[in-house]
Amino acid sequence: MSNELVPHWIAGKEFLGESKRTAPVFNPATGEVTKSVLLANRSDIEAATKAAAAAFPGWRDTSLAKRQQVIFNFRELLNSRKHELAEIITSEHGKVISDALGEITRGQEVVEFAVGIPELLKGYYSENASTGIDVYSLRQPLGVVGIISPFNFPAMVPMWFYPIAIAAGNTVVVKPSEKDPTASLWIAKLWQEAGLPDGVYNVLNGDKEAVDGLLESPIVQSISFVGSTPIAKYIYENASEHGKRVQALGGAKNHMLVLPDADLDLVADSAVNAGFGSAGERCMAISVVVAVEPIADQLISKITERMKGLRVGDGRRSCDMGPLVTREHRDKVAGYIDIAIKDGAKVVVDGRNVNPDGDQNGFWLGPTLIDEVPTSSKVYTEEIFGPVLSIVRVKSYEEGVSLINSGAFGNGTAIFTNDGGAARRFQYEIEVGMIGINVPIPVPVAYHSFGGWKQSMFGDTKAHGVEGVHFFTRAKAITSRWLDPSHGGINLGFPQN
Ligand code: NAD
Repeated sequence: MSNELVPHWIAGKEFLGESKRTAPVFNPATGEVTKSVLLANRSDIEAATKAAAAAFPGWRDTSLAKRQQVIFNFRELLNSRKHELAEIITSEHGKVISDALGEITRGQEVVEFAVGIPELLKGYYSENASTGIDVYSLRQPLGVVGIISPFNFPAMVPMWFYPIAIAAGNTVVVKPSEKDPTASLWIAKLWQEAGLPDGVYNVLNGDKEAVDGLLESPIVQSISFVGSTPIAKYIYENASEHGKRVQALGGAKNHMLVLPDADLDLVADSAVNAGFGSAGERCMAISVVVAVEPIADQLISKITERMKGLRVGDGRRSCDMGPLVTREHRDKVAGYIDIAIKDGAKVVVDGRNVNPDGDQNGFWLGPTLIDEVPTSSKVYTEEIFGPVLSIVRVKSYEEGVSLINSGAFGNGTAIFTNDGGAARRFQYEIEVGMIGINVPIPVPVAYHSFGGWKQSMFGDTKAHGVEGVHFFTRAKAITSRWLDPSHGGINLGFPQN
């Protein structure tokens, strides 16, 4: 194992803590262990949460103007140095550099949204709600908030939360994925450079023990979680039981419904981009194309043609798609190709035969296309989270919609058509949280909110946008009267006028 140790970041400095447990961090393109990351125990969790609690009163008292300035500085630093961060992401996650830059840009949009926090925190004021009485509402920070993130977007997903949490006056403990933890440490140093006081942004590295510690900590007021559905459910139930506010975003199985009148070249481009970008390790990736006949054969031939041109290899080179995150995950995804064959589906392109531009020990699996996937197969019902695109053929729009609505997940979906009426009907009928109309990956911009339905999200407040501001603040309503000489005397009823 390499000597480079990824520490925690607590109270403005690297922190080694008490636990000596570690996990290996791989470079997925070479298969090498490049670092080991510390895994926190209860004493380390306490150090992180106490540091955040100690920083809270001072940060809460910091004026909106000053907080806004720090967020603005952070945005400028991030924008000018995002290449450094992209290289870190590629070295631990495997995605190609352009894609790593893309995720930083989408995260940065939330930082830009958070710069406008004074506008977002403005309350309401009703003058003379009752005679001589004014009523107004404020939003105040929660205190210490916990953010637990997945491996697939080590920069963007935590950024859905902490810019808003910090701008609103909270202090945070981020628990990154142990598979690619370094991005969060790099961000910690950037915050310090931007002028954020020590202890406002902390990083606690770890696994289940760190997560459970945050869920149970009496100091932590809320949990923002993103990851697989079984863990999201666990987080939602446990954090709620411990009296916390929770938003827990889970897994996905996103369908693209293609109507016969759609532009099939646009559809084929979109299916390839959305199915294989980031090696399919995106919660908004398209994993099933639902083709309304008679177009399936023609569409498959267009998709296959495009797949021939995809270059798989080391993300530092000029490739389209990198490796999967770990060998274990690569083997699990490849296992679905065997299941597809056993279940009677037709493998049109088999990614196991890929010839990558990279080290032979990398965690490679090429783009895979499977036709005639039975909807009873695990290939259809389970989240695969890899470069495997399934085709399901249906006879009508209605059959497609009812298939999508009968699925367990409800994160994203898209319809491709030139019929505005069909698209409008789809947006009305479909039971999914984020919809694309001729847009394959409909990730909402930062000033709207991100989150799915059904098994894709637990909790009712989504990430970023106005819902994000509400999640990280609590409302207070004040009823006030400044006495004048003509006050009304004793009255035991509610004021009526
Ligand atoms: P994961 O659920 O394995 O891990 C997510 C986080 O939970 C990590 O920080 C991990 O350390 C922690 N964790 C893992 N096992 C745990 C346990 N038993 N108890 C407590 N904590 C535990 O997810 P992942 O593999 O890192 O990420 C991929 C998953 O995330 C996919 O399912 C993907 O769809 C989902 N995801 C969803 C969204 C969304 O917005 N809905 C966005 C990105 C990723």
